[in-house]
Amino acid sequence: MSLFKTKSWLECLQCHRKYDLDSVRYSCDCGGLLDLTRDLGKIDGKKLLKTWEKRWGMKSGVESSGVWRYRELILDAPDDKIITKQEGNTRLYPAGKAGEYAGLKNFLLKHEGENPSGSFKDRGMTCGITAANVYGAKCVACASTGNTSASMAAYAAKCGFRSIIFIPSGKIAYGKLAQALAYGGLTLQIDGNFDDAMTLVQEICEKLDIYLLNSINPFRIEGQKAICFEILQQLDWKVPDWFVIPGGNLGNSSALSKGLMELHELGIIKKIPRIAVIQASGANPLYKMWKFNTPFKAVKDPETIATAIKIGNPVSWEKSLRGIRWSNGVVEEVTEQEIMDAKAMVDAAGIGAEPASCCSVAGAKKLVDAGIISSDESVVGILTGNVLKDPDAVINYHMDNLKDKGIHGTFANRPISVKATLEAVKAVL
Ligand SMILES: *Cc1c(COP(=O)(O)O)cnc(C)c1O
Ligand SMILES: [Zn+2]
Repeated sequence: MSLFKTKSWLECLQCHRKYDLDSVRYSCDCGGLLDLTRDLGKIDGKKLLKTWEKRWGMKSGVESSGVWRYRELILDAPDDKIITKQEGNTRLYPAGKAGEYAGLKNFLLKHEGENPSGSFKDRGMTCGITAANVYGAKCVACASTGNTSASMAAYAAKCGFRSIIFIPSGKIAYGKLAQALAYGGLTLQIDGNFDDAMTLVQEICEKLDIYLLNSINPFRIEGQKAICFEILQQLDWKVPDWFVIPGGNLGNSSALSKGLMELHELGIIKKIPRIAVIQASGANPLYKMWKFNTPFKAVKDPETIATAIKIGNPVSWEKSLRGIRWSNGVVEEVTEQEIMDAKAMVDAAGIGAEPASCCSVAGAKKLVDAGIISSDESVVGILTGNVLKDPDAVINYHMDNLKDKGIHGTFANRPISVKATLEAVKAVL
């Protein structure tokens, strides 16, 4: 009997070898990345859409989750194995001030920072940890720039798994480190960057039989596809012209395009939106490859204030590139100043997000300025993480304390010291 109730299999991106789901596997014997693949020819798109519409707004049960609502295209796990925190169900905001700033008339921001642990990582995690549960694992691990570990620790805590976290020393935002510790993850700070941590955790998981929950794990990508399913359902399946999304390890952009490809193949959407992946200029291997038409080459010492995307050797670049090409998309880079100014606008719009998230807005603005996106096209930007994840970045920007990083507090909102008298306050107002 097979573990999953499913007709899905894992398929290598490189050599197209297929593997069934009965044993744990993260990559092909040839070294290629694996995709969870299913026979879409056996699914009736119209019926599926009706099922999804019926589930909208459910109050409880597995399908009240903004991931498992779409379970037919996520993972066929039995209900009693699914570990969910009702993730997803995040808002799609008009961009307000951030839209004016980007020069767009029709700009929406999908706030994935409203997930249970404060980032989109929860969507992949519910799926990945459910797979771990199906496989009978009791111990999970990841290397993380912060949000993956926060998410993994929260889900592991929920179901009583042990969680082991590898973080680059001194390089993760405080809110995220706080979560990892609070949820009880065994947190190992290693003396190296994210890419070093990633190499180490893969070796350790293999040797010590621990279940790996980085985005090389194909099940995590499946869960993250639900971002685009949910956006489109919120838009009554009217497809925007563009999706703009930050790119670090490039799992999320891979998931976005994979989800869209599947909806398109099922006839649920007719139009193919264009995908813009935005990288920080200090951690921009995909951008360089795209811009200069060169083979993939890792960036050695990635550096950016947007720590969630401070990754020089992204695991999923091939999957991401496949989707960008399929969607006639683009890759753009943004500077530290552009990221933080865009963030100030997202925050001042009352929406708020962490630095990496705001690449979506900084990138959209840059693409509008370059005439690649036109101001009346409809654009959805993905905000990947919550504003409270990185309070240091916020305070330092508004106190204009980032000069050593070459960042000015262009839109700084400094706190003002004032005597505790009516006159003094009146004078300030
Ligand atoms: C993980 C993360 C990213 C990058 O996503 P990838 O899938 O690694 O490209 C961007 N922003 C935030 C807030 C994240 O947590
Ligand atoms: Zn292969």
